[in-house]
Amino acid sequence: MDSLKEMYLSAGIDQDVYDFCDRIQKGLKDRFEKIDQTAEYNQMKVIRAMEKQRVSAECFESSTGYGYDDLGREKLEAVYADVFGTEAALVRPQITCGTHALTLALSAILRPGDELLTPVGKPYDTLEGVIGIKDDNPPGSLKEFGISYRQVDLLEDGEFDLEGIKEALNEKTKLVTIQRSKGYAPRKTLSVERIGKLIAYIKSIKPDVICMVDNCYGEFVETIEPTQVGADLCVGSLIKNPGGGLAPIGGYVVGKEKIIELCANRLTAPGLGKEVGATLGANRAFFQGFFLAPTVTAGALKGAIFAANVYETLGFVTVPNKTESRHDIIQAVTLGSAEAVIAFCQGIQAASPVDSHVAPEPYAMPGYHSDVIMAAGAFIQGSSIELSADGPIEPPYAVYFQGGLTWYHARYGITMSLQYMKNANLVTIP
Ligand SMILES: *Cc1c(COP(=O)(O)O)cnc(C)c1O
Repeated sequence: MDSLKEMYLSAGIDQDVYDFCDRIQKGLKDRFEKIDQTAEYNQMKVIRAMEKQRVSAECFESSTGYGYDDLGREKLEAVYADVFGTEAALVRPQITCGTHALTLALSAILRPGDELLTPVGKPYDTLEGVIGIKDDNPPGSLKEFGISYRQVDLLEDGEFDLEGIKEALNEKTKLVTIQRSKGYAPRKTLSVERIGKLIAYIKSIKPDVICMVDNCYGEFVETIEPTQVGADLCVGSLIKNPGGGLAPIGGYVVGKEKIIELCANRLTAPGLGKEVGATLGANRAFFQGFFLAPTVTAGALKGAIFAANVYETLGFVTVPNKTESRHDIIQAVTLGSAEAVIAFCQGIQAASPVDSHVAPEPYAMPGYHSDVIMAAGAFIQGSSIELSADGPIEPPYAVYFQGGLTWYHARYGITMSLQYMKNANLVTIP
C-alpha cells in the first residue's frame, strides 16, 4: 500500500472513501494543469510589479502613530495598482474586512440624493444593512443618508436583464456595484469577461456612471481583473485571496486616482487621505501574502473543483458543477439536510491544522438571516482563503466551501468531510 494512503487511513479515513476520492482526483489532471498555468502567469505579474516598484527590505519596516512616510505602505499600494492595472490603490490594515472595504467605497463615492444600482441581483448578506434594505436596518445605513437603491435581478437563465438595467439607470444613478462572486446567492459567478461586457453596456447608456466590482474571492482566479475591463474600482478583503493567507487583517480598493482619494479621505479624514495610517508591522505579511496569493488561489481552486467532482459524482447538486469554468474559489454543494451540512463542516474542521479537536455547531451570526455553522481551523481568525466552510441552516441546506492554503490540505479536508458524511450514514460510497 502506498504511504500516502497509509497516512490517510491513520487519520481515520476509510479505504473506500480514500479510493473513491483518489480516483476522482486522478481524473482532474488536465484541469489542474490549466490552473497551474494561470497561477504561473499571475505569479509573474506580481513579481514584475514588485521589481518595478523596487521593493526592498526597508519596505518591511513598521510605522506607528500617524504613520507618515511609511515607505512599505506606499510601495505596496503601488504594487497593487500595478497588478490590477489601475492608477492608484488603498491597501490598509485599518480596513477591517471585505464589508468594511465595500462600505468605505460606497460611502466615499455616494452623496445624499444619489442612487446606487446593482444590476446582478441582491448583494452579499452583510451589505443589506449597509445599504439599508433590511426590515430592521442598523443605524448609519446609506438609506439614512438619503441614498437610494435599485436592484435589477438576473434573468431566469442567469443572463443580464439588459432592458431592466436600461430602465433602472436614471439621472440619480451615481454608482453601479457588481458582485463578481455569487456569495450566498444561487446564481453563477461572473467571469471577468462578462463583467467587462456588462460595464460596456452600462456605460453606453450612462457614460459618467461609476462602476465598482466587489472582487471578493475572485482575485487571481483568472489572468485579468475587472479593473482591466472597464471597472472604475475593485474592492476586496485581505483575509481572502490577495492576502495569500499571511495578511493578518486588511482590505483594498484599487481604481482611478480620484476615487482612491475619496476613499482615503473617508477612511482617514478629508485632507489627511493616504498620508496617514500606521502599518503596525503588517507590511511584510502584506507583501509576502500578495506574492504567494497566485499559488494559494490555485490551491483553493483545485480544492473547489475536487469537491464539486466528489459530491456531484455522489448525486449532490454543486454550483459550479464539476465541469464548468471557474471565476471564483467558492464551491456550493447542496446537501439537502441540516445533518449533512453539520457533518460536512465538522469533517472540514477535523482535518484542520488548528482547532481540529473542536466540533463546530450552528449559531446566530450578525449579518446573516439564519443560524450558520462555520468550520475554520485557521491561523488567521475568520480567514476564508484558508480551508473553511459555512452553511446557513435553512433550505436548501447548502454548504459554501472555500480556501485551502495548499491543495494538499484542501484534498484532505474534503476527503474528511466525506468520511463524516459516511459516518453519519448520509452517503453511500460507490
Ligand atoms: C466575503 C465577501 C464579502 C464580505 O467580506 P467580509 O470580509 O466577510 O466582510 C462581500 N462580498 C462578497 C462577494 C464576499 O465573498
